[in-house]
Amino acid sequence: MLFSPAAFQFVLSQQGRAQLVYQDFIYNFHEGFPSGREYWLCRDYRKFKCRSSLVKDGLKLENRGQSHNHGPHTHILRHKQLLFASPC
Ligand SMILES: [Zn+2]
Repeated sequence: MLFSPAAFQFVLSQQGRAQLVYQDFIYNFHEGFPSGREYWLCRDYRKFKCRSSLVKDGLKLENRGQSHNHGPHTHILRHKQLLFASPC
């Protein structure tokens, strides 16, 4: 999938960090570049060795890596505080 505007949100982790939410999956910040591009890894990267990741460029997202090897994080998101929702 190429960069495209996508609906996403930010929520707060238990450690007080912003987490990116896309299609009911939660991603943790991994790396940022001077160009503004950011790499986000699935929160279950370690737990399930999930290799799904996103590249964020402004309000655009690009799906990277593989499909999730687990279900969506819907149950966790019910308890999360919404920080930001994209306008899409
Ligand atoms: Zn995953």
